Amino acid sequence: MSAVIQFDEAGRRAAGQPLRIALAGNPNCGKTTVFNAYTGARQHVGNYPGVTVDRKEGVVRHAGESVTLVDLPGTYSLTAYSQEEIVARAELASGKVQAVIDVVDASALERNLLLTVQMLEMGLPVVLACNMMDEARKAGIHIDTDRLSRMLGIPVVTTVARNGEGLKEAMSEAVRLARDGGRRVLEINYGADVSEGITAIEAIVARENLLPRYAPRWIAVKLMEGDPELRQELRAANPTAAQEMEGICRRVAEHIRTGHNLSMESHITDARYGFIRGLLRDGVVRQDAGKDRLAISDKLDRVLTNAFFGPLIMLAVLYAVFQVTIEIGAYPQGWVEDACGALGEFFAGVIPEGDLQSLVVDGIIGGVGGVLSFAPLIIIMFALIAFMEDSGYMARIAYMMDRVFRAFGLHGASVMPYVISGGIAGGCAIPGAMATRTLRSPKEKLATLLTLPYMSCGAKLPVFLLLAAAFFGDQAPTVMVLIMLSGWVFALLVARLLRSTIIKGEATPFVMELPPYRLPTLFSVLMHCWERTWMYIKKAGTVILAISIIIWAGLTYPKLNEEEAAVFDDQIAALTVQLEALPEDDAARAGLEERITKLEEDKGAAELANSVAGRLGKFIEPATRPAGFEWRTDIALLAGIAAKEAVVSTMGTAYSLGDVDPEDAKPLEVLLQTAPGWSKATALSLMLFVLLYSPCFVSLVVIQREAGGWRWLVFSIVFNTALAYAVSVVAYQIGVAVWG
Ligand code: GDP
Ligand code: MG
Repeated sequence: MSAVIQFDEAGRRAAGQPLRIALAGNPNCGKTTVFNAYTGARQHVGNYPGVTVDRKEGVVRHAGESVTLVDLPGTYSLTAYSQEEIVARAELASGKVQAVIDVVDASALERNLLLTVQMLEMGLPVVLACNMMDEARKAGIHIDTDRLSRMLGIPVVTTVARNGEGLKEAMSEAVRLARDGGRRVLEINYGADVSEGITAIEAIVARENLLPRYAPRWIAVKLMEGDPELRQELRAANPTAAQEMEGICRRVAEHIRTGHNLSMESHITDARYGFIRGLLRDGVVRQDAGKDRLAISDKLDRVLTNAFFGPLIMLAVLYAVFQVTIEIGAYPQGWVEDACGALGEFFAGVIPEGDLQSLVVDGIIGGVGGVLSFAPLIIIMFALIAFMEDSGYMARIAYMMDRVFRAFGLHGASVMPYVISGGIAGGCAIPGAMATRTLRSPKEKLATLLTLPYMSCGAKLPVFLLLAAAFFGDQAPTVMVLIMLSGWVFALLVARLLRSTIIKGEATPFVMELPPYRLPTLFSVLMHCWERTWMYIKKAGTVILAISIIIWAGLTYPKLNEEEAAVFDDQIAALTVQLEALPEDDAARAGLEERITKLEEDKGAAELANSVAGRLGKFIEPATRPAGFEWRTDIALLAGIAAKEAVVSTMGTAYSLGDVDPEDAKPLEVLLQTAPGWSKATALSLMLFVLLYSPCFVSLVVIQREAGGWRWLVFSIVFNTALAYAVSVVAYQIGVAVWG
């Protein structure tokens, strides 16, 4: 099929208006890397599809112009089906964009150009940036950019986003196009029947002056494709004309169906691919014989995604991640704990005994310090996970999970939201819930949203790391892997349950894409790691600090009244007098000292039990006894609904308040090991409870928004907490039976 390229003079930019240039392209072709290189921003770059769902903006200065650069989500097409396509299309069709830099993977031009062609049909001024040229060169691929440029009638440049090669040139071309304001509309030959229909519709568009910001031919082509968005727009603008045009489309579609046995959509896509193949023929793209860029990736994949070895390797990799994290992290964690201990002792020395000292030492240092002491482990784990993401291995894990997912009524595209939520540890359900927007079926989206919170997000990690290390010693990495996997198992089981009861419906098809393996850049790994670590630290310094203070107050007030306090104080005073009367070397001193300490402990316990939080905890305690939780744990779990890190910080405060000797602050790990009622069974039960119970506040809000209903929020709280309780009780009882 042949094509004609037309130029028309519409669409000039008004003088003085700032330039707006969009970055468009398929997923994973390097748009965000290009965006970051231009703007100096640090948007998330990941070696798997579906990372950017929202558009991002940044400002660039180029040749005296101020340019607003927009990073669009990756799309293969400009139909308005998935969220990415809707976002990208809305921006491109808005009429506000003066030029587009179309980033394409130089090694996969044929597939990438489908989007390019659609933008040219819209009449957008496009610069084609053949990116990842370094990889293409290695694979022996040559692109004759001059010819491609002449044939398409647009500037074509080669780029390597990672080192900035060609980016300046691409921007110059884009700015030039944007200043010129010339609008060119690519006309693809769709065959006689369709062409006739297009001409007829164009005539109506011109006659009625419909939607003047779009090229008339684009309106016609999109209507032929059956585009629902545009149909709506036309119906709203002029119902009678819309009806007339839709009549034409139906007639032509009928012809195509009887004549070619094809749907209109496939016919049009075929014609576009035909155009692209014609374009790339005759030496525009050449590949040296015997070279194939996918060869290494393919060989690796034969092992890494093998049905048998793949999952085993995955488990080994995860085990190694936790092992390295715990082994290496223990040293810096010890330093942070020592520093917190020293800080506690320092404040205990300078602030006189009383509420203020207790607030600073037990409330703030005990609470926030407990969370901060996990920062080193979190940094190491995040770095390892960033490496897995950027190398392309994470996409393989998603690929293997995808096989399992269908069996449970979930979509292959659900895997990424799970992974983002912390499926491989250390994510967050909030971006995870937003990533469910890539799911087209509302039922599959809902099932994914409701089960996302079972993943091991970054906030739950300190709880798991704390308990695994304190009670399971050398087996800690195994325990971590098992807990993480249980999250997946429960997510899948609950999804299956939901999909066969309250959200029944058909599964929709999906093809999972595998990006090539890439050696991540050090910068990108460090950046990802830093982003998440900084978020963790920031949260510890703000939200967790606030919660710690509230929890401390809840555990301190109201105080014992004078009579109640006097019961202990009088005895302590009496014993102290006796003690002081004895000579330094008297054998009876030790016994007296012990009795005083015991009384102080009893007084502390009575104070805690009398406080608001203490009463609340004691009130709940009987219900959670079967799961092995005592009242302090219950309070920590309640606080954990605000933010999961608060489980650790609250236990930190509660147990250090119970610790009578502020001069000798012990890490939480040690306090728990020696606390009565704590055992392996308790630790296991608590880990499972934290894994499964109600999502935190912010996640709940996002789930409510994405699921579109308060009842799903209530469901998440009630169902998840009930499930967590049932699982913990079973785990605790089994644990007690097995370990004693
Ligand atoms: P997006 O999905 O289009 O936003 O793509 P990203 O910017 O997230 O990049 C996807 C992956 O390709 C990342 O691993 C990048 O480091 C890598 N990448 C981007 N540009 C290039 C390039 O020019 N050469 C090579 N070798 N890798 C690149
Ligand atoms: Mg991106």
